[in-house]
Amino acid sequence: MQRSEPAVASSLSDLWSRQRRHFASGATLPVETRLRHLKTLEVVVEKNVDAIAKALYEDLGKSAFEAYGTETLIVLKEIEYFLHNLRHLVRPRRVDTPLFFAISRSEIHYQPYGQVLVLAPWNYPLQLTLTPVVGALAAGNTVVAKPSEFAPATAALMERLLHDNFPEELVRVVNGGVDTARSLLELAWDYIFFTGSTAVGKLVYEAAARHLTPVTLELGGKSPCVVHRDADLKVAAMRIVWGKTVNAGQTCVAPDYLLVHETVQEAFVEELKKSVRKQYPPEPLHHPDYPRIVSRRHFERLREFLGQGRLLMGGRVKEETLQIEPSLLADCPTDAPVMTEEIFGPVLPIYTYKEAQEALDFIRQRPAPLALYVFTRQEKFSDFLLQNTQSGGACVNECLMHLANHRLPFGGIGPAGMGRYHGPFSFETFSHARAVMKRQFFPDLPQRYPPYNKLPMSLVKRFLKKLV
Ligand code: NAD
Repeated sequence: MQRSEPAVASSLSDLWSRQRRHFASGATLPVETRLRHLKTLEVVVEKNVDAIAKALYEDLGKSAFEAYGTETLIVLKEIEYFLHNLRHLVRPRRVDTPLFFAISRSEIHYQPYGQVLVLAPWNYPLQLTLTPVVGALAAGNTVVAKPSEFAPATAALMERLLHDNFPEELVRVVNGGVDTARSLLELAWDYIFFTGSTAVGKLVYEAAARHLTPVTLELGGKSPCVVHRDADLKVAAMRIVWGKTVNAGQTCVAPDYLLVHETVQEAFVEELKKSVRKQYPPEPLHHPDYPRIVSRRHFERLREFLGQGRLLMGGRVKEETLQIEPSLLADCPTDAPVMTEEIFGPVLPIYTYKEAQEALDFIRQRPAPLALYVFTRQEKFSDFLLQNTQSGGACVNECLMHLANHRLPFGGIGPAGMGRYHGPFSFETFSHARAVMKRQFFPDLPQRYPPYNKLPMSLVKRFLKKLV
């Protein structure tokens, strides 16, 4: 197959038209065709595990383990889910029909929307591009996916792999920057799936509104992490350090700030220091598994944060490799950028609380986050926080892992986004649930038709509610 021309607006609209015709032809509908495409994608990803790891190392300094565990594996598990479940998912689901419509059948039919646009960020460039692509294809749509321009090696690899293995009227990766994204957003998509910042999410929502296109917005936020006095501090510290240093903290659901019970703060800080040394010996800046910051601009932004509190741990940077040590900050003013912006890097402000209510108030004074983490042995305490807060997802005594279980929906609330995906939730996201009622010609009750004087109102009031 020929490589594609640069993504100029006219070629994008030409691609859009070809995908339109392809969808209209019905070619994406047969379940066997969808399964064949998913199988092809599985083989392509599996054959290219090393090339993917290489690209992710080039873009973000990810180790091969991290590249596989947090990107490739998630895509492969999503494909596997659909290979096992798609036949069942595409079947019409029968639901009950009220007595009034006797001798009829009510069904929900899951139909593809049509043409899906996926816009992806740079932090998990493979996973966050291909996971929605898998769901959209499984649901029978055509897809154009635009990865982020800030992870160019992975973006180029995905473009090549899809181009070499799929007809572009079915699925195509288009590379480019903001102009390409804007040109794509001019077109009338049937569904837009966006992952990225809240600021750009608003622009995408506006663009979608012009065509009344439904959207999923997977955005960011400041995810709180609460460590209660009864938590296993060793395990909590290991898991939080992992959650905050995987991809050097450039994870949408990374713990953004810590709320630690005041009686255990000192001991917990010591455990955090030990955990960093254990996970990246002798220290992160000299460890091959420790990733880098994506760009100089982002590196400088994070470096500024380091000066916005009292350093309890870390604080060193390696300018030439754009790396920043896992750093803990105390006494950060709550109106400093480190506490008003999503951190998105290995910097972690820490605050203490005395009463559970204090921790709750601190969380609730801020917009609903993408994730909430609570470390405690008391279910009463975690339930108190879970019941009185909102967040896209949550973990008790863990961080990040909720998104690795495709049986759980993944998505945000409020400024952290709208909609959900992964596994069955992806199928629902990329399908229109069409209500279908199938009736016979008999019976045909004359009482339903005007003039409405065939039954006394007293009878109508008494029975209609029971029959409908
Ligand atoms: P971003 O919003 O800058 O970019 C995302 C995509 O939008 C890219 O493809 C980019 O080219 C495009 N884009 C950028 N500016 C645009 C504009 N003006 N108009 C149209 N398109 C535009 O996000 P990013 O910096 O790549 O990623 C980091 C953000 O993504 C963080 O806020 C993070 O929390 C969030 N994120 C969320 C999730 C999630 O699943 N909820 C996952 C990863 C990242």
